[in-house]
Amino acid sequence: MSDAVARSRTATSGRTVRAAAGLLLLAVLSAGLAGASPKRGAAAADPEATGPAAAQTTLRVGVYQNPPKIFLDEDGRAAGLFAEVLAALAEDFGWRLDYRACGWAECLALLEQGALDVMPDVAHSESRSDRFRFGSVPVLYGWSYIYSRSGTVIQALADLQGRTVAVLDGSIQARGLAELRARWPFDILGTESHLQSLEAVADGRAELAIVNQFFGEPREEEFGLVRSQIVFQPVALYLAFADSVDDQLVAAVDARIAAMKSEPDSAYFTAHQRWLATSRPAGLPEWILWALAAALAFLLATLAVSALLKRRVDRATAALRRSQDQLIAAQLLASVGDFVWHVRTGRVEWSPGMRALLGYGPEESIDIDDVAQRVHHPEDAEWVWQWIQDGIASGADSLGPQSYRLCRKDGAVVFVETNLRLERVQGSVERVFGTCHDITAQVRGAEALRAAKQEAERASRAKSDFLASMSHELRTPLNAIIGFSELLHRDAGGRLSPRDRRQLDAIRAAGEQLLGLVDGVLDLSSTEAGQFGVSPGPTDARAVVRESVEQVSLMALERGVSIEDRLAAGETPLLWADHSRLKQVLLNFLTNAIKYNRPGGRVTLAQEAAADGFARLSVADTGIGVPPGNEQRIFELFSRAHGSPYVAHGGAGVGLAVAKRLVEAMGGRIGFESRPDAGSVFWCELPLAETDTAGSAERRQP
Ligand code: ADP
Repeated sequence: MSDAVARSRTATSGRTVRAAAGLLLLAVLSAGLAGASPKRGAAAADPEATGPAAAQTTLRVGVYQNPPKIFLDEDGRAAGLFAEVLAALAEDFGWRLDYRACGWAECLALLEQGALDVMPDVAHSESRSDRFRFGSVPVLYGWSYIYSRSGTVIQALADLQGRTVAVLDGSIQARGLAELRARWPFDILGTESHLQSLEAVADGRAELAIVNQFFGEPREEEFGLVRSQIVFQPVALYLAFADSVDDQLVAAVDARIAAMKSEPDSAYFTAHQRWLATSRPAGLPEWILWALAAALAFLLATLAVSALLKRRVDRATAALRRSQDQLIAAQLLASVGDFVWHVRTGRVEWSPGMRALLGYGPEESIDIDDVAQRVHHPEDAEWVWQWIQDGIASGADSLGPQSYRLCRKDGAVVFVETNLRLERVQGSVERVFGTCHDITAQVRGAEALRAAKQEAERASRAKSDFLASMSHELRTPLNAIIGFSELLHRDAGGRLSPRDRRQLDAIRAAGEQLLGLVDGVLDLSSTEAGQFGVSPGPTDARAVVRESVEQVSLMALERGVSIEDRLAAGETPLLWADHSRLKQVLLNFLTNAIKYNRPGGRVTLAQEAAADGFARLSVADTGIGVPPGNEQRIFELFSRAHGSPYVAHGGAGVGLAVAKRLVEAMGGRIGFESRPDAGSVFWCELPLAETDTAGSAERRQP
């Protein structure tokens, strides 16, 4: 028995919520039970009735094990809600309570026999009201549940059919079951207590147990039983009195109970609180604690995640802001801006770079009309607008680059290069996104460059004109000097002294040298001005060589230098060159080869194949050679490798510079090999000509 009591004290965790739900249900049920007042309790509560009631000094009270309503505790004392209510009544009425332990059915029998005066926790029924005296005020409302082992599902009373149901013998539940049995036949296993009923299901002797909720709820978990959702037999629980107890006492007790139930601080509520709510072992049900812990953990996790996300968002936002700042800085640095034109509304958005470019503040709003009327340069506005409209009409997705002028707010003109992206929705342009790059500096620079070039060209032309006219002016008297000195030499040759003849020769030689120089300068000025005409075509190198050799033969003769033309002997392929210009080059090579030769020396002309579809024409001599270190210099203007021309060899350092330009103008290459005192080979390589099947020639492609 003490075990049962202990269980009643401990196995309550997890029931607070269900008890609360039970109280709610109770309120609903009480309305339905209001009409079920006992017959004998018809005598109304009368405050005056406390007088006669006090005369009864000892009340014999039956006690059975039905915690938390009524039971004997570990010390054998009556306890539970009814015991406390009875104790309060006893105190009010001056009773002495004499508890007698008995089984439920036994207790009722003793009450009926008059061996007990009062029995707590008795549900009212018609048959009981014949046997006992009931008051009209119930102490408590209760109901029962159907318990089963997990796996057995009871959803309706019909599910009782064919099963074995454990129930407290003589209880109101047993009576109710008897009626149900007539409808859905099942077996009944009678027990002496609700505890036995639960045990019977737990150990398999019965499949189901009908137990009141006060007893069942705190123990269902301990027994591993499940409760059906069916609320079985809602009942009002009374103090039942023996027939021998007089009506006045019953009425007085009714009145007192009614009074207690209306006073929040009464012993009734204290007992209710202790036994049906907070009297149970303190502490929240475990599942609520778990739920709270889980909720707390979830909350913390959510907070942590949201803090993490916030940090990420903050970091991303900061990074975004940084990159935006960088973009703005980059735009300002590069003088670039971007804009969006919302075509439908005409609204225009400018980036900070764009505003800086055009000198507008961040707050000033702009629309497309402002752009057309104030921002586009008046001379460009129309064609720029047309350019955009044509692009839109053509279905293009992008336009540009296009350069035109814009007007800053302060009136200054800037040149921009613009690119546009036309963003279409279902074919029609909704947005135009564009970039503008300030190219004013480049445009101004290009303009200055163009002007400088024009000026340089003009100056160069003036110089060339001057040189050309000077050359012509110089040629006339020079030719006269040379011509008359030759005439004098021929006509008066015999009459002149050897000294006079030498002086006359010197005059003629100086005149010819000066004439050569003038010709060179004239050539050079025409190459610099890009004026010399070079018209390459199929050219027979043998003819060019033959003509050139003829032209220098006298000079060679005078200097005692022999010339060997190896091209004359056989066939040579056609070159792609300008006949007269090639001759000019060869004449330069030949005169040098004679000039810088030694008396009795030799000059040899040859042609051979070279790489890349070129042929090499070479002029070899047996002269003094070019001193080392002059390889590049001698092709430069007025540079000589052999001292003063007037002193030694009569050169001005113009011929090779002109030859190099001519060869390169014909698409060729020029060069030399030389050894001091052994001689030099000056050469030029020119493309070979090719004759197609139709007989027309062209440059052979490498
Ligand atoms: P110029 O012969 O009138 O001085 P060039 O431009 O024809 O001018 O030649 C430049 C220089 O190259 C010459 O002054 C001379 O020093 C050197 N040079 C040219 N051809 C030869 C050669 N065949 N042998 C040695 N030196 C030469």
